[in-house]
Amino acid sequence: MTLIDVAIVGGGASGTTTAFHLANRGKKTCILEKNISTPIKTCGGGMSAAVQQWFPFTLQPIVDEVITNVEFSWCLTDKVVADLSEDSPFWIVKRENLDSYLLNQALNSSCNLLTAFNVVKIKKKSNIWEITSLDGRQIEAKAIVIADGSQSKWSDFFNLGPKKQNYASTFSGRIRGRGNVLNGTARFEFGIVKNGFAWAFPLGNEVNIGMGTFLDSKNSISINKILNEFLPDLGFEPSEVTGQNAKLRIWNGHSNLNGEGILLVGDAASLCDPFLAEGLRPSLMSGFEAAKVLNCWLDGNTKNLDEYSKIMKTNWGNSMAWGKRISQVFYRFPKTGYKYGIKRPTASKRISQILSGQMSYEDIAKRVIKRLLFQNLKSQS
Ligand SMILES: Cc1cc2nc3c(=O)[nH]c(=O)nc-3n(C[C@H](O)[C@H](O)[C@H](O)COP(=O)(O)OP(=O)(O)OC[C@H]3O[C@@H](n4cnc5c(N)ncnc54)[C@H](O)[C@@H]3O)c2cc1C
Repeated sequence: MTLIDVAIVGGGASGTTTAFHLANRGKKTCILEKNISTPIKTCGGGMSAAVQQWFPFTLQPIVDEVITNVEFSWCLTDKVVADLSEDSPFWIVKRENLDSYLLNQALNSSCNLLTAFNVVKIKKKSNIWEITSLDGRQIEAKAIVIADGSQSKWSDFFNLGPKKQNYASTFSGRIRGRGNVLNGTARFEFGIVKNGFAWAFPLGNEVNIGMGTFLDSKNSISINKILNEFLPDLGFEPSEVTGQNAKLRIWNGHSNLNGEGILLVGDAASLCDPFLAEGLRPSLMSGFEAAKVLNCWLDGNTKNLDEYSKIMKTNWGNSMAWGKRISQVFYRFPKTGYKYGIKRPTASKRISQILSGQMSYEDIAKRVIKRLLFQNLKSQS
């Protein structure tokens, strides 16, 4: 058996990004994917254009719509629109297109791919990882990247990631036509989903419709009831949409994302934003950062992979710690949250800036704290 540098379990957004950056630096890399041809992937496909910074090639070919307006509503009324045209844009992509585009970039950089490779066993023997598929195939690697998404069992198995996983319950589907969804406008509806929100994202000649609930993963969503309310408001018949439910791992505290020769990326690392379910940006960010640290380690320029967990804490986790607090308060008291958190002048703009990657929850929290301190000092003087 030939020994490769890095085996990547999972060929989604995070795995293909990691694979591209390793293969592009000449590392012998192989993606192990159990199920490569999914016609439609369950995802809203909303993604900040800021992700472009992690790729030396353009992502434009897979962008279906550029969002310049974000419309928020409470129980389908009380609307507020944030104009993003002067800010960094927010893109809508078809997930299957994003993943296969990134996969092709990795393959063009000489990464290998083994399909129908359902990883069932991972073992480490004298610093070499031995990975076995359900059908008995085996591969050996110096390092392993766990990129197998929200249902990953390997994070717990290797005692990495948060001690307790937290999940959002979600549904996402596509609908042909545009209804009355305006060009370049993404919709977020906060009143009709308990402890969460529904969205409508236009993408070419279709609209992605979805919903997520964030506070209690055992709480199933009343999908049909919500579709019956939301779709007519968007100019569609509720029967027109077909979609899928999914449990999505969300960020649940700072944690160690690496061990010796092993890293977690994307949903397997529980990076998804617990307030807005943004998981693509951290998936691509973690893929990029994981490859950077792995390249260094394989070249003998660093002794371990600890830098990866540190970078992800600074660049993502610190913001998510605030995102989690905001989510817990907002979704517990959503009506008040909507009134004071979204309808306030500038607030809807700030949320749009979070989505477009221009601001973090941490930036916003610091601004609010500063404002409160300033008001306090002023009232004392
Ligand atoms: C309904 C919904 C809507 C969403 N909308 C958005 C959105 O609009 N914007 C946004 O930023 N994020 C969104 N997200 C989150 C985003 O989809 C995820 O964060 C992202 O898919 C994570 O990518 P990943 O590569 O880590 O995992 P995945 O995309 O899940 O990829 C994991 C891969 O691993 C493979 N795999 C699994 N097990 C094995 C195994 N044992 N052996 C080999 N291969 C395996 C799978 O087949 C899959 O290809 C949404 C999520 C959901 C559920």
